[in-house]
Amino acid sequence: MIPEPRPTRPFTAASAPPAGPTTTGNRALLLEEPLLFESGSPEVSGVDLEDVPPHAFRLAGFERTRPIGLPGLSEGEAVRHYTRLSRQNYGIDLGPFPLGSCTMKHNPRLGEKLARLPGFADLHPLQPQDTVQGALAVMYALGEWLKALTGMPAVALSPRAGAHGELAGMLAIRAAHEARGDARRVVLVPESAHGTNPATAAFCGYAVESVPADARGRIDTAALLARLSPDVAAVMITNPNTCGLFESDLPVIARAVHAAGGYVYCDGANFNAIVGRVRPGDLGVDAMHINLHKTFSTPHGGGGPGAGPVVFSAALAPFAPLPFVVERDGRFHLVEEETAEADGHGSSFGRMAAFHGQMGMFVRALAYILSHGADGLRQVADDAVLNANYVLRRLEDVLSAPFGHAGPCMHEALFDDRFLEGTGLSTLDFAKALIDEGFHPMTVYFPLVVHGAMLVEPTETEPKARLDQFIAAMRALAETAKAGDVARFREAPRFAPRRRLDETEAARRPVLTYREPAIPRSEAA
Ligand SMILES: *Cc1c(COP(=O)(O)O)cnc(C)c1O
Repeated sequence: MIPEPRPTRPFTAASAPPAGPTTTGNRALLLEEPLLFESGSPEVSGVDLEDVPPHAFRLAGFERTRPIGLPGLSEGEAVRHYTRLSRQNYGIDLGPFPLGSCTMKHNPRLGEKLARLPGFADLHPLQPQDTVQGALAVMYALGEWLKALTGMPAVALSPRAGAHGELAGMLAIRAAHEARGDARRVVLVPESAHGTNPATAAFCGYAVESVPADARGRIDTAALLARLSPDVAAVMITNPNTCGLFESDLPVIARAVHAAGGYVYCDGANFNAIVGRVRPGDLGVDAMHINLHKTFSTPHGGGGPGAGPVVFSAALAPFAPLPFVVERDGRFHLVEEETAEADGHGSSFGRMAAFHGQMGMFVRALAYILSHGADGLRQVADDAVLNANYVLRRLEDVLSAPFGHAGPCMHEALFDDRFLEGTGLSTLDFAKALIDEGFHPMTVYFPLVVHGAMLVEPTETEPKARLDQFIAAMRALAETAKAGDVARFREAPRFAPRRRLDETEAARRPVLTYREPAIPRSEAA
């Protein structure tokens, strides 16, 4: 018997907050935060150094000859500035981050500690390989784990993120076709795939053709099979897909694609839902990226760093990008362009990055894998799926779940905006109101397969009490919306440091303003 979650207390007229900003712009105990250029001044300094004459630095004539006008603050004010900024931000360490498709999971402090060990953190990528055997051993061990967990024989660790991994996989597929003199032009991408999939295929010069989804939120297999022909280079399938559902026809599709001379790219960003349960290699996948920053817990957001290793089938392994680590006579060795031919990897399409990849992420991911073990990783997947299904079933009577009838979901619960019909409110209004209730919104308007999508991915580490709190907030909002109390939605968010920003421009054209340093123009030249 599931206890009824405690509803969030509705606002009474007396407790309702003012809709507009406060008189000072400050909120509660949070001061409105100016830029350092506005609050500091070049005359102030947080340090107390003696004025050393410039020539004492012996910088071969490059020493600073005049002040450059950077603002100075006392140490206390500098600490406050960054602490206040951090309170305006939201992070996984503050509360749930239910962004569907993003897998915002807890980052164990163990991984953070290990990644900061000087033996990893202070390496230089151009150090002789003899001096970094331990780091190469970590990369090798991580690669072996990724191969074992996916059932694939080869791995490239260098791609920097999921989309970069997709590019690596598709470049290997293109190289494999070109090596046979096969000029295939088309890549099939189901509607249920992630948006980066068609973008990657197009970036590789392929014509992208969309394959419809069926009523169960999965690939319309008959439509895909009917489209296969000698001009199809590959299919790109996200599994579990962006509706949070398992593409159960993947083996059938893979056999048909291979018979037609094509390859199967799998977007494995959602591997968190199946790790330890399913090996994509067993489903017929030829290349798949894994987002270490999703499945294996490394931090992400704010643009990185991420890591998107790619695993390859035997058919594609010879074309995999450089460099990668091999073990020979108990030593570890990085296969690079200079040695590729001699090492038997002369067919590689090239490299994805200047060096070997994101070392800090490798250490964190391996720490996560080793601390869980194979059984623990399976438990991760099971709990992620359990949590998402709990959210789905506790909300489907008040929200609308387009594929709720199609059985359990995987790691994320998908809702659409049918439950808001007639209220005059949109998915965006609903998401903004959730901020006022203390929760970061779920992913909205993605996937595109359903109208006004809300995609909730709780991840495995959220305890039931926290899920109940989130569910209670969602239920209370849905009921408030249906009761016609729309003002609080339109005004939301009322308690955030900023209200509604321009959804597109705020991210694409951020206004990075600072006060010009106080240097006379003539000198500045
Ligand atoms: C996150 C994600 C990607 C892109 O990964 P990045 O690391 O952000 O480049 C691709 N596909 C799916 C399904 C994802 O969830």
